[in-house]
Amino acid sequence: MVEYGQKTTCQFMKQTRTPEERMDTLNLSPALQFIQRHLPAYKRGFARFMSKPAVKIDATSRVTCSSHKGIEACGPHVLSHAIPEILERMPETIQRLSMLKTVDYRYAGLIPVPQFEPDGSWKSSTVKMVSINEFPRKDDHPSRILIGCSDGNTIMPSALPECVHPDPIIRWYYQFHVFLHEYFHTVEFLRRSVEKRSEVILTSNSGTFTLSDWWEKWVKLYRDNPNPRFPSRYAETYGNDLVSGTEAGRFTTAIAEQICETFAGHQLDIAPNDEDEPDFRRHFLEGCHLIDELITARIA
Ligand SMILES: [Zn+2]
Repeated sequence: MVEYGQKTTCQFMKQTRTPEERMDTLNLSPALQFIQRHLPAYKRGFARFMSKPAVKIDATSRVTCSSHKGIEACGPHVLSHAIPEILERMPETIQRLSMLKTVDYRYAGLIPVPQFEPDGSWKSSTVKMVSINEFPRKDDHPSRILIGCSDGNTIMPSALPECVHPDPIIRWYYQFHVFLHEYFHTVEFLRRSVEKRSEVILTSNSGTFTLSDWWEKWVKLYRDNPNPRFPSRYAETYGNDLVSGTEAGRFTTAIAEQICETFAGHQLDIAPNDEDEPDFRRHFLEGCHLIDELITARIA
């Protein structure tokens, strides 16, 4: 077992009706099938992302990557040789806010497998790391898995096995989506309090605001909204935590997951969703506006 308490793995529990439905909220296959259906849009989104001018700042140039010897056998990954080029294409404000220090491939050959309760729910503290060579074991579902992890300073990619989708290109694009998602966790995870977020002061054409002000706009978008928009299929699984009365930590995690998924969708112009909408702005314009507001601001 791996203790995930101090990390933000992508965790959730949807209050669906049957144990089977609850467990299936963790099924990654529909997201990979979405990518397959919209592969040209993913290719265009990635090409656009990489064609942005590089923005080189010192903190980004100091990010290190651990060795990933033997990673070729672990399925597709965003590899260390590509990391500097990718990081330099992140919006400048986000680079300046990011606390990323290391991309650590220690989990590159492992799959975080959730352990389910009889009612189909799972505890984020009970994630078992299983070697890609052993997965799926006899009792494992082949695609109900977690992927990616960050502690705010470190991004730890994990494996995406062939049994989720046979095409390594499709799996690579999902790995890239996950990398963008985890990158935004390096902006927000170590600032999970009003005090910490209020320390970040930003300026834009419309005035001065704090990261806390910006975060509150996300809270308003979701709290007790009976019909909220979710950026992605994955983000939607946190829907039941976005109501008044949810324990504060769970609520904050659920908001963070919305923001990280929106950032990934915004940067690629596409994110897996069950409405099969490939145009991310059309899918979630309000969220795109909030990301625009942050990335066009400057740190005061
Ligand atoms: Zn996450």
